[in-house]
Amino acid sequence: MNLIILGPPGSGKGTLSKLISDQFNLVHISTGDIFRLNIRQGTPLGKLASSYIEKGDLVPDQVTISMMEDALKQIAPDQGFLLDGFPRTVEQAEALEEILKKIARKLDAVINVVLPDEIIVHRLEGRRICKDCGASYNVDLIPPKTENVCDRCDGSLYQRHDDEADVVKNRLVNYHVLTKPLVEYYTNVNLLFDVDNSGQVEDTASYLYERMTKVKE
Ligand code: AMP
Repeated sequence: MNLIILGPPGSGKGTLSKLISDQFNLVHISTGDIFRLNIRQGTPLGKLASSYIEKGDLVPDQVTISMMEDALKQIAPDQGFLLDGFPRTVEQAEALEEILKKIARKLDAVINVVLPDEIIVHRLEGRRICKDCGASYNVDLIPPKTENVCDRCDGSLYQRHDDEADVVKNRLVNYHVLTKPLVEYYTNVNLLFDVDNSGQVEDTASYLYERMTKVKE
């Protein structure tokens, strides 16, 4: 099964992606995670990406598309995947279609995580990430057992610079202008599943396990 997960920043798509890819044994490819890894490693791609990410802007399409083409070509033909954070523009979605044709793969569903902007802003302000393993917490909703320490690996937690208030505003504007048109794009090809994630993420995940099991059949 090959899935895309769409949604505004802070909608919980990263957490849901991990749960769903574990449940269905899918390779989870997150563009944001790949960019952050490159930034930490100081690669040329990381240096280029960080200037955009810091401001809450999208990394240029051509850079992102060629990075994802490489990632997709590395997946074994019998292994399903879940794309988290890609595509984020109509140009990226069109390029993805071409890449999938080249590698003879097709999409089974596009999950669209829906959440109002007010909740997003609140969730992003409280989000903390483990600097070692990338696990995501929230100081109010999913607090770690010990303040600022990762439950899984004891790494220290930090707030992403792009989760700070002024950058979040720009990310939301970019989402509405550049990414939201993808909702219509994938509705038109009958692939879109809306899911409300304003409740507990485990409940959203259970609902999606059921829906995606039907898609798989
Ligand atoms: P995320 O972790 O998905 O919120 O992504 C963090 C940041 O990485 C975004 O705000 C963008 O600056 C950049 N980014 C992630 N995915 C893409 C993409 N598909 N196209 C362009 N920029 C992206």
